[in-house]
Amino acid sequence: MLYRNFSSFLKEKYKSKVSKICIDGGFGCPNRDGTCGTGGCIYCGERGAGEHIDASVSITEQVRSHLAKGKSDTLYIAYFQNFTNTYAPTDVLMQRYDSALIDKRIVALAIGTRPDCINEEIAELIASYRDRVDVWVELGLQTASDKTASVINRGYKTEVYKRAAKLLTSHGIPFVTHMIIGLPGEGEAEIDSTVDVINECGSWGVKIHSIYVMEDTALAEMYRRGEYEPPSLEEYVRLSARSLARLKPDIVVHRITGDCPDGMLVAPEWNKDKNKVINLVRERLESESLRQGSLYGKG
Ligand code: SF4
Repeated sequence: MLYRNFSSFLKEKYKSKVSKICIDGGFGCPNRDGTCGTGGCIYCGERGAGEHIDASVSITEQVRSHLAKGKSDTLYIAYFQNFTNTYAPTDVLMQRYDSALIDKRIVALAIGTRPDCINEEIAELIASYRDRVDVWVELGLQTASDKTASVINRGYKTEVYKRAAKLLTSHGIPFVTHMIIGLPGEGEAEIDSTVDVINECGSWGVKIHSIYVMEDTALAEMYRRGEYEPPSLEEYVRLSARSLARLKPDIVVHRITGDCPDGMLVAPEWNKDKNKVINLVRERLESESLRQGSLYGKG
């Protein structure tokens, strides 16, 4: 296997088809409401990801309508995707997570959040769900460089991610780290450091996103002013293959591309063809005789 991809992991673990239910839990983001920043991360759209989700209905309705479309033997992951899904008091969090876990076919709860929105109490609450389903948290690191973090208006230092990783690990909660390839001012050295931090912090999984410039974002303004240029497809393929090779061999790779919502892509054009990108990354690994972990710990 060239890398330990998520779909193989699911097949091995559940021996059944597993589908993801993306949920808008009605949360906000401290990087938008002024608590730690305003305007949000420069690439983030108005919906804080999950643009395809119908947020006009309740969490339970979102889940029900997804289940109604699936086959009876399919299993599901309830994925709280939009904005910061631990950004509320624990009683509210519990009520919202509970309202998603309405069917025994839902075998996992995945919670996307910011590392600065995890504390002891929240970690305890999340850990308590392990009695019912598999649980993991998804942390938006994107880069380990504090310099880039400031350029992208991430609103927290990498030290905060490291603390959150420790806290989650101490509660036995696996976590997936999101990283982006192609952030402004970043090249091989910065991306290597990000992978190193993900390895060191005990991440269970990784989502490697290719950067895309989306309409109505600060990044789109930078792009139109000529202050930012996304990487070429060739450069993206090279850097993502390298990142996979530097990654610890046991980390589960949940994705290696970014998905811009339909009709919102400004650049790069190649972002539209996800399968082509994945195939090119695989070909690159093969042609360089690389696989996940083959460059791990090699400087
Ligand atoms: S933390 Fe997430 S939701 Fe908040 S602005 Fe950044 S990308 Fe958007």
